[in-house]
Amino acid sequence: MNLKKMFDLNGRIALVTGSSRGIGQAIAMTLADAGAQIIIHASRNDSHMEKTVAAIRNNGGQARTIAADLASPEEVKKLIDAVGELDILVLNASAQSYQSLEDFTPEEFHRQYEVNLRSSFELVQAFVPGMKNRRWGRILAIGSVNQHKPSARLPIYSTTKAALNNLMNNCARQYASFGITVNNLAPGVIMTDRNVDVLNDEAYRNKVLAMIPAGRFGKAEECASLALLLCSDAGSYITGVDISVAGGMQL
Ligand code: NAP
Repeated sequence: MNLKKMFDLNGRIALVTGSSRGIGQAIAMTLADAGAQIIIHASRNDSHMEKTVAAIRNNGGQARTIAADLASPEEVKKLIDAVGELDILVLNASAQSYQSLEDFTPEEFHRQYEVNLRSSFELVQAFVPGMKNRRWGRILAIGSVNQHKPSARLPIYSTTKAALNNLMNNCARQYASFGITVNNLAPGVIMTDRNVDVLNDEAYRNKVLAMIPAGRFGKAEECASLALLLCSDAGSYITGVDISVAGGMQL
């Protein structure tokens, strides 16, 4: 197989959750560049979503949008129905909030559990049968450096990310013989909207930078390149791995 063919996603349909912005957007645009038909998803239809779809179409790619709040089981069901058949599932959307364990309300615990873990389980459960029938599928979860080194102010987020990785390992083992790979990509600190506020605090920013051997924050595109490998034929024998894209922060 030549290099182009190994990364060619023509004819594949991909859902990237949380792809209106940040890492999900970069992954969606890269998979679209490789030829996949992309479903851009976010909690709501907004200008980020529209701009992402327009950018893909302007580049000659194919994309459509579905809005669904993953905190709501009813909306997750609607998302599944609206998607139809799927070859590539990227579980990227997540909810987090910086607070100590003692400050957590049951509602906030529940929200993070729903968005980060339960909806992922439901999406996998819904789309695996089709992948099994077609003997080809790619499932990629976006984890976090926090699954390895939990931040004191992200206790439930970290827990759900570690649990999601465990679920991916389970699925990898179960579905490998069907031509389905299941992996986890764990970013470190990547410059996206979610980090803007916390990293505006210079003292905190320097403290975090000191924890990164590479000495800099990452870019969303640096996650997307690995995602393409794991979602294409080039990654057909890679399953059950958890790869950090963190400039060494996981060490
Ligand atoms: P981001 O810039 O905050 O974007 C989040 C995306 O997820 C948006 O498209 C957002 O849509 C969607 N989303 C959030 N909550 C949702 C919900 N309840 N239902 C549906 N969609 C929802 O995030 P990011 O920084 O790119 O992070 C992407 C992934 O990488 C996440 O899983 C995150 O945990 C992980 N990660 C990020 C970093 C980092 O440093 N950035 C580090 C480690 C791990 P709306 O705007 O419509 O809500």
